[in-house]
Amino acid sequence: MRTFNAPGRLDLSTEMLLLPACFRPSLRITLFKPFLWTNIAAKNKSSRSLSFPIVRASSVSTFSTASEAAVMAQDGPINQHPLQVAKRLEKFKTTIFTQMSSLAIKHNAINLGQGFPNFDGPDFVKDAAIQAIKDGKNQYARGYGIPDLNSAIASRFQKDTGITIDPESEITVTSGCTEAIAATILGLINPGDEVILFAPFYDSYEATLSMAGAKITCITLQPPDFALPLEKLKSKISKNTRAILLNTPHNPTGKMFTKEELEQISLLCIENDVLVFSDEVYDKLAFEMDHISIASLPGMYERTVTMNSLGKTFSLTGWKIGWAIAPPHLLWGVKQAHSYLTFATSTPMQYAAAVALNAPDSYYEELRKDYKGKKEILVDGLKAVGFKVFPSSGTYFVVVDHTPFGLPDDVAFCEYLIKEVGVVAIPTSVFYLDKEEGKNLVRFTFCKDEGTLRSAVERMKERLVKK
Ligand code: GLN
Repeated sequence: MRTFNAPGRLDLSTEMLLLPACFRPSLRITLFKPFLWTNIAAKNKSSRSLSFPIVRASSVSTFSTASEAAVMAQDGPINQHPLQVAKRLEKFKTTIFTQMSSLAIKHNAINLGQGFPNFDGPDFVKDAAIQAIKDGKNQYARGYGIPDLNSAIASRFQKDTGITIDPESEITVTSGCTEAIAATILGLINPGDEVILFAPFYDSYEATLSMAGAKITCITLQPPDFALPLEKLKSKISKNTRAILLNTPHNPTGKMFTKEELEQISLLCIENDVLVFSDEVYDKLAFEMDHISIASLPGMYERTVTMNSLGKTFSLTGWKIGWAIAPPHLLWGVKQAHSYLTFATSTPMQYAAAVALNAPDSYYEELRKDYKGKKEILVDGLKAVGFKVFPSSGTYFVVVDHTPFGLPDDVAFCEYLIKEVGVVAIPTSVFYLDKEEGKNLVRFTFCKDEGTLRSAVERMKERLVKK
């Protein structure tokens, strides 16, 4: 068997490499080296150097670079079928959410990593889906959304922003917001177009921009408040900028862009004729201030694609119902990309989504109240454990500084947390172009029942020791 020299943290990466394989029907085992941890671990000079075999399932891409893939091909992996992936995706790994949720199962750890509720969505929405299936709403939906859902989205947008839109020509229903992001980017960005991204950023943004061949310009939001670095933005934005990708409330930090910040961004976009792609999936989880859609600011609707989904607001992340809202001249590109990506979205779920969006205001108030309680349990708990907790105004995430516990970086900390403490968090370095920028931060989610949150805090109190 072939062996590789690898830094000391390998037993976790080995597990990570193996775990997704457990869920796959055909396992072709290939010898290969670790992927996620390599960069950070290599920088950690104190790491022990171990030599032992690594196995992984060949159905998961692991190449970090083209040259790594070439070396592997030359060396001849034991199955003689080197992994293949197009250049536009070769630098991307198995998503951190998939890896962490697999590890949570493997180690029986409490999963405060991937953002999915461990409680169910409301009965009135589930019943509507069952009814739609029974009523035979089971064939292809109209490509850009069933009329009932488009109308419900338009009404909600009107209520939230005061803007009246045409449900037929200004909305496209997609398979979750992730597809809305992809359709927007692939439908409106040409290869070589410059797009500004704020780091830390949700992982699909970079991968999708890469698929479109965009040139990414990254601006980092710095703790503790992750405020807009206006001068930096002014220095980066220009007539050559095609779009800014915005996310408010912001994953992973929980930052909400203030009215002043949004106005500053708007003025620069208007001045430089720049589009805004705004991911607002956490808009109903706004705790410390009101959510503002940038599309509602003067001169902005005509240059903005607003994206949202059902998953977070109705605790139905597995339904994958999302949408993009934009004026007809921009929606055209989004709609075209959507037509050839997925064509249409699950029909019965769209009927249920229309029922969901017509929920009374009290539903949203209850949701917010409930999450506020959960947030308090987690934030107070994390502070009591000894973390430095950064303020989170929205989303169901909170970011902390893990350095009081003496681990060298976010990945090492998360490894320790899973294996020695039994709690899963997300290392934030995956959300930066420059991984070093995220090495002190990890993200916890509070979209779990209160008992689970309290148990996680208890485990951390018992087993995490300040260094
Ligand atoms: N949005 C979820 C999160 O940030 C993850 C979704 C996914 O796994 N792709 O945790």
